[in-house]
Amino acid sequence: MCTRYSAMITNKFLAFLWRMGTVLLDEPMSRHTTYRTGGPADCLFIPNNPACLGEVREMAKKEGLPFLVIGGGSNILVSDKGIRGIVARVCGEVDAGIRTVAQKDESIVVFVDARVEKKAFLEWALRRGFSGMEFMAGLPGCIGGGIAMNAGTHIGWFSDILTRVRIIDKAGMLREKDITDEMISYRELRFEEGTIIVGGYFRLQKTNDPQSIQKIVEDIIREREQKHPLEYPSAGSVFKNPHGHFAWKLINDSGLRGYAIGGAKISEKHTNFIINTGSASSTDIYKLIRHVQEVVEKETHIRLEPEVKIIGEF
Ligand SMILES: Cc1cc2nc3c(=O)[nH]c(=O)nc-3n(C[C@H](O)[C@H](O)[C@H](O)COP(=O)(O)OP(=O)(O)OC[C@H]3O[C@@H](n4cnc5c(N)ncnc54)[C@H](O)[C@@H]3O)c2cc1C
Repeated sequence: MCTRYSAMITNKFLAFLWRMGTVLLDEPMSRHTTYRTGGPADCLFIPNNPACLGEVREMAKKEGLPFLVIGGGSNILVSDKGIRGIVARVCGEVDAGIRTVAQKDESIVVFVDARVEKKAFLEWALRRGFSGMEFMAGLPGCIGGGIAMNAGTHIGWFSDILTRVRIIDKAGMLREKDITDEMISYRELRFEEGTIIVGGYFRLQKTNDPQSIQKIVEDIIREREQKHPLEYPSAGSVFKNPHGHFAWKLINDSGLRGYAIGGAKISEKHTNFIINTGSASSTDIYKLIRHVQEVVEKETHIRLEPEVKIIGEF
């Protein structure tokens, strides 16, 4: 059952939301996901300051409305039926979203607002001659989503440079927390359920050779352009690499290169990417994900686990 809430959101609640940010009712999520698919969110809320989200979530709970936080939408698959309740989008341009909080010898600690795009943080650091964040080259989405996913590549992950986070905990309290080894996992930082990321503290190193860092970043971007099907909408790699294996190779060796369902297709360039060839629905993508899981399991006895977060009813 799929109950739409947009008509049921009270004027009082809407007035409250408008004081805190921008409100879009029945907003197509295809405008906010890199797959360019997904039905309407009953209420998409873009906060002026993510620190207000504890209060917003509490108010939503009192009104009986589901509540979800997303970032840049580059790692989510949203149902064609959309998302019920309030969806808070923590991503976008923000004034003074990056500030230096400590500087000692060759090392610096910066606080970065969850809404800052990874690309903007990378450019900020490159301009000032810092290193450590090169792995972010070519990664879409925002800092909050990157922290939640412990995003990264073979040269580094968020948890390599993230020392502390500012969060809203499940009780709605704004607080800070150090990153510990127990929290670090492949494509995930383990937080208590209901944690909203407001920002993170990153440790970077001053380099004497900023040009070489700039070159590393340019090389990574060039390599990603060659290897990834960036000319199509996607959410990057769909499946996590199982221990000791590469998901792309398992998919390729299972004969699925180029396999398509509707407008969703296994990229011929990189077989861990599902691309939207133009007319894909989220249902096409979802069916293809399930098909890949079944075929790869049958061929290799390995069940692939999606890295992409599947949201809503399928
Ligand atoms: C072309 C392409 C290439 C990619 N390459 C890579 C890659 O090399 N490595 C990699 O790791 N990823 C890659 N990705 C996936 C994706 O870009 C990353 O996972 C990214 O960090 C997600 O950030 P986002 O802001 O888009 O988050 P979203 O996709 O919006 O959200 C991802 C998850 O984080 C949660 N979340 C987001 N913001 C918050 C917050 N403030 N508080 C609490 N939870 C939050 C959401 O609920 C969701 O569960 C790629 C994607 C694309 C499209």
